[in-house]
Amino acid sequence: MDNSLNNYMEKVISRNPSQPEFHQAVEEVLESIWPFLKHNPHYIHANILDRLVEPERVLMFRVPWKDDKGNIQVNRGFRVEFNSAIGPYKGGLRFHPSVNLGILKFLGFEQVFKNSLTTLPLGGGKGGADFDPKGKSDSEVMSFCQSFMTELQRHIGPYTDVPAGDIGVGGRELGFLFGQYKRIRNEFTGVLTGKGINWGGSLIRPEATGYGAVYFAEEMFKLKGDSIKDKTVAISGSGNVAQYALEKINQLGGKVVTLSDSSGTIYDKDGIDNEKLEYVIDLKNNKRGRIKEYADQYNAEYFESSRPWNIKCDVAIPCATQNELELQDAKNLVANGCVCVVEGANMPTSPDAVEVLLESKVLFAPGKAANAGGVAVSGLEMSQNSIFASWSRQEVDNKLKNIMKNIHQQCVTHGTEDDYINYIRGANIAGFIKVADSMLDQGVV
Ligand code: NDP
Repeated sequence: MDNSLNNYMEKVISRNPSQPEFHQAVEEVLESIWPFLKHNPHYIHANILDRLVEPERVLMFRVPWKDDKGNIQVNRGFRVEFNSAIGPYKGGLRFHPSVNLGILKFLGFEQVFKNSLTTLPLGGGKGGADFDPKGKSDSEVMSFCQSFMTELQRHIGPYTDVPAGDIGVGGRELGFLFGQYKRIRNEFTGVLTGKGINWGGSLIRPEATGYGAVYFAEEMFKLKGDSIKDKTVAISGSGNVAQYALEKINQLGGKVVTLSDSSGTIYDKDGIDNEKLEYVIDLKNNKRGRIKEYADQYNAEYFESSRPWNIKCDVAIPCATQNELELQDAKNLVANGCVCVVEGANMPTSPDAVEVLLESKVLFAPGKAANAGGVAVSGLEMSQNSIFASWSRQEVDNKLKNIMKNIHQQCVTHGTEDDYINYIRGANIAGFIKVADSMLDQGVV
């Protein structure tokens, strides 16, 4: 690593102790934009970096709620309002026991660059709680969501901060959160995205992140004169992003052979067709079961406590969580002939694994570019809410496709290196320029 970058990272680490995911996200961005900054010292003179790595505001709060047995439980809630240079704070809420400030700062930091790439006026934020919806009844989840929103509502608004879903926050949770916001504030506004279609949601929002990741992959292949058609694809996760990435790959003629959850991986060599996908959606979204049940249902293989990356595939799409594709996984993928890795999740690939993939000239799409479709359609949901309109499926899907195409083009413009496109560099530089220039325009902010 460059000496000056090393010194800078030491400062970031000492100012933000015990936040390894945040350090990782900052280092990944700075490493790829460092040469660009050296050629553009006005950003350094204006101390843009110190301003970018410091969230504008961090909120932490107590979330007390009552479980079904009448016991009072307490969780910790957060909202990190990271950067509002180009629009209101925008980013999801994550409910998972692993949630802490460092993880939300990493997600918020990534979100700033991702939202900048979408071409929409969206700032960056992220929030959530160390609450685990798994194993909780609907009434317990509602009780938690209502308590969480009772505090959060003071800090958000359609022109201030607009949260959405993330891990553990799907349609059910967003409904409970929106209901409580409306009750307390006595207003029906687009304060959350990912809303139900009957109460202000946008068509294609549930599909957007998964579809968008596959549209991005298709753009990468197109540039090589190739396509997703007939490709064997390994997907991890079995939640929102995984489900719709799978659906889009099926539509484009690819074959998905794996899914996973935090307990293990299923391998179905015949491919997970649309009928099997319906089963997964019901299993995960309604029955809230484990992916192992798929293996029992369809006589597929199941690997306990294992990830999909040692299974032969042409394309890998990690759609579960951060650092779920590590060094040995990357080596296995390359050895098995994988030519493309697309991050559906946020930062699923560890830095040493990324290095292996780049060295092997695997097409690699970082999450902030590839999974930006979700927040992009959230932005479209905000537009529809503000003009009291509902656009058709086709209209939203076309806009999503164009946005993904545009993000891909920005990566090509800023990331082309001889015969290889470094999509990480491209995404980071393009995302940075828009936010940094806006901050410069706005004075000392
Ligand atoms: P869901 O909660 O719908 O699904 C998450 C999936 O990942 C589940 O299968 C879950 O398994 C698995 N998972 C979660 N944590 C772990 C873990 N620690 N180890 C192994 N598996 C795990 O979330 P989403 O699909 O919405 O989000 C997935 C990823 O995509 C996240 O990184 C999120 O930040 C990112 N993302 C999501 C967007 C969206 O619009 N939803 C937008 C952009 C990015 P289990 O069922 O066992 O918990």
